[in-house]
Amino acid sequence: MTATYALIPAAGRGARFSTDGGNKVFAALRGRPLLRWTVEAFADHEGVDGIVVVTGGADVARCREALAGVVKLMAVVVGGGTRQESVGIGLYALGAASDDVLLVHDGARPLVTTATIDRCIQGVRENGSAVAALPVHDTLKRAGEAQVVSETVDRHGLWAVQTPQAFHAQTLLNAHVHATATGFAGTDEASLVEHLGDVPIHLVQGEPSNVKVTRPEDLSMADAILGQRAVAGVMQTRVGFGYDIHRLSPGRRLVLGGVEITDPQGRGLEGHSDADVLLHALCDALLGAAGLPDIGTLFPNTDPAYAGIASTRLLQDVAARLDALGFQVVNVDMTLIAEAPKIMPHVARMREIIGGLLGLEPSRVGIKATTNEGLGALGQGQGIAAHAVASLAHS
Ligand code: MG
Repeated sequence: MTATYALIPAAGRGARFSTDGGNKVFAALRGRPLLRWTVEAFADHEGVDGIVVVTGGADVARCREALAGVVKLMAVVVGGGTRQESVGIGLYALGAASDDVLLVHDGARPLVTTATIDRCIQGVRENGSAVAALPVHDTLKRAGEAQVVSETVDRHGLWAVQTPQAFHAQTLLNAHVHATATGFAGTDEASLVEHLGDVPIHLVQGEPSNVKVTRPEDLSMADAILGQRAVAGVMQTRVGFGYDIHRLSPGRRLVLGGVEITDPQGRGLEGHSDADVLLHALCDALLGAAGLPDIGTLFPNTDPAYAGIASTRLLQDVAARLDALGFQVVNVDMTLIAEAPKIMPHVARMREIIGGLLGLEPSRVGIKATTNEGLGALGQGQGIAAHAVASLAHS
């Protein structure tokens, strides 16, 4: 089984980036160092086994601090005077087996996506090389010092090359050894492999958003792209509403929110199940939010299977249905309308039971009780009603 590693040169002095020549990879992007975004893109990819970062001697401590806690980070090593030397040093530090896949990626390209990394890994497995690139769409001109155009370059077949650039470890090692031996200097790994001449370079689709942060304005663009991705990735939330009412009559148990309560008049709620009006309203709110049929359809009161059933079991069934559809309950809130008995002494236990069944902290289970101020049938104590709302999240 071969391993896949990311090798990330991050030694850029960034002459175009800041006047003091500080390393641009430490610039803050949405409150985190740019380099951390880059390294985490690989750490979060399930196909990547380990990461080596190469940086300047003066930046090693800062690099380690910026990358503290990144699980797949194997080493931060001191690079050389050029990017080429730095990648070469990183290669030796990594000590990968010859068939292992190496993804070399610029530390200053923080927006590389899982899809691009996938294409590079897959490309090496199929073709022995994979370089992320985009076809050139702009018209290209060649101009001299005075910015006078000498020709229009035919853009047919031209690609703008990005990173990752991925090869088998042995190919990259051979290319670096050969470049050093022949005094060849290239601006990327692909040019060294081209110079070696043994392995064809295959291009894979890069992405326009995979920008190299070179100038300060590139940071603003990276920030905007991350903002769009955050919006696109936000979980959808949904709400549902439920209502139920049951008659009170003598000789029945009174169960509310899964708690059996003693009614001073010895009455309980009528119904096919245990008639827990609070849980019935809650089930309907949850089912409604998920777009599922209501409680009367799912658990018909004509079905003997549900005769006298504890409504906690119905809520459990509803929770399992939501789970199967990928819904997560965010919070629920209920109001009971009852003239008697007193509900408040039982609320803490109800929140515990409902929270337990829905996987929610009790703080996410709201239960209030009110009387109907003596008005109407509820006010005369002929029954108990409940309203419920539920909020669900779905990614
Ligand atoms: Mg009911």
